[in-house]
Amino acid sequence: RTYLDYNATAPLRSEAKAAMMAALDVIGNPSSVHAEGRRARGIVESARESVARLVGAKPSEVVFTSGATESNTWVMAQPWATILTSGVEHDSVLAPARAAKCNVIELSTGRDGVVRVEEIAEHILKRSIARPAVVALQMANNETGVIQPVAEVAEFARAYGIAMHSDAVQAAGRVAVDFAALGLDTMAISAHKLGGPKGVGALIIRDHLDLVPLLCGGGQERRRRAGTENVAAIAGFGAAAEAAQAELRNMSAVEALRDDLEAHIRAISPRAVIIGETASRLGNTIAVALPGKLAETLVIRLDLAGVAVSAGSACSSGKVGASHVLEAMGLGSDIASGTIRISLGLETTKDDVAAFVAAWQAIAGSHALAA
Ligand code: PMP
Repeated sequence: RTYLDYNATAPLRSEAKAAMMAALDVIGNPSSVHAEGRRARGIVESARESVARLVGAKPSEVVFTSGATESNTWVMAQPWATILTSGVEHDSVLAPARAAKCNVIELSTGRDGVVRVEEIAEHILKRSIARPAVVALQMANNETGVIQPVAEVAEFARAYGIAMHSDAVQAAGRVAVDFAALGLDTMAISAHKLGGPKGVGALIIRDHLDLVPLLCGGGQERRRRAGTENVAAIAGFGAAAEAAQAELRNMSAVEALRDDLEAHIRAISPRAVIIGETASRLGNTIAVALPGKLAETLVIRLDLAGVAVSAGSACSSGKVGASHVLEAMGLGSDIASGTIRISLGLETTKDDVAAFVAAWQAIAGSHALAA
């Protein structure tokens, strides 16, 4: 099998698995004062340091959650008067934002998938945005890999007393992410996109920023997130973060494989549309549409040929229909329902690329299209 769906989830790193296995044998509750409890506490705190290092935050700013869906929901559930966000955000930002009882402004992007900073500035400057207000802008898109000008927008937001949140799920571990330098108030990350286990993530919260807890009832995570910590998952997250940081420089090799794969697609399918090709993109992602072809059909045929990719946004598999991300980019419905996502990772090899190319040639090559 050829796995090219790293943006949905990355394989568990061996370091993460080993850390989790070891943590499973620790019986204490991290909140207990006895030796068993202190051992569990040690695991959680050491993982907190590793995660903090990966994203340029202080350990005190890292709050472990059940994943980025919880982290994004938590921020959107604050008592904002205004949420300013983009239509290309992940559903875990958009759904809780739309459910919030406040003014929600959802900006479309250019056809390249990048928000227009002037438009955000205009909203902040010219219209009276009720405060407290937050801007939620992802660092990189899960479907297209397109990177947003988060630092620029954060600087602007800060100057006008508006909080800034970023969903850095697809960026962390793939490009350098520096929470402090970006000037963010909050940032969501997820373990399973960088080789950690599923079901654990973090919300990075700038020191001294008070958020209303989403989960309350226990004093864990310095009263910010109640519930006994998922010690084994957190241990895996920490080990994965450390490994991801050490291997960040190897992402250029992943990018070279991606570029090679993309060149083959262009050569085989001259009519293929590469989404966001003029924007700055993650080095591991290709979103490509073949006019007249349904994404689901391509995904199923590639799957039968032994290649795993996904259609549109695909953590929620089985979801059929046009992608809200591509629609927010102003792309027509044939492209919005015809785009597949190919996403590579550190374990992708030249053989994987060759396997994809052979399958693509058979399924989408000009001969196959005519058939
Ligand atoms: N944001 C983005 C950009 C994502 O790609 C995902 C994962 N599909 C999430 C948030 C949700 O993360 P989790 O799976 O940890 O809930």
